[in-house]
Amino acid sequence: MHQTIQQFINSGDTVTAYCQNPACGHRQVLDMLKLRDKLGPDHGSLHDDLVPKMRCSKCGGKDIGLIRSSNKTASYTGPKPNQNMYAKLSGRS
Ligand SMILES: [Zn+2]
Repeated sequence: MHQTIQQFINSGDTVTAYCQNPACGHRQVLDMLKLRDKLGPDHGSLHDDLVPKMRCSKCGGKDIGLIRSSNKTASYTGPKPNQNMYAKLSGRS
């Protein structure tokens, strides 16, 4: 599905770029506001839209991978309630 840079920003997600050069391994969270200024709000936000515009800032390589993280899933990673606590108590004699 096509998504523009502006829609991506509105979604609150983040994207991290990874250099695929094994000797480098540089990674960086992309500044989508900066990209919007540079490419325009209607530019696509998918891998094929962005990767041709990017270069590793460390080694200059163009073999870049993108990993997108959703804020919505990140908010569900809190500790799970421990339900065994009460089971232990009731098992006492
Ligand atoms: Zn690199």
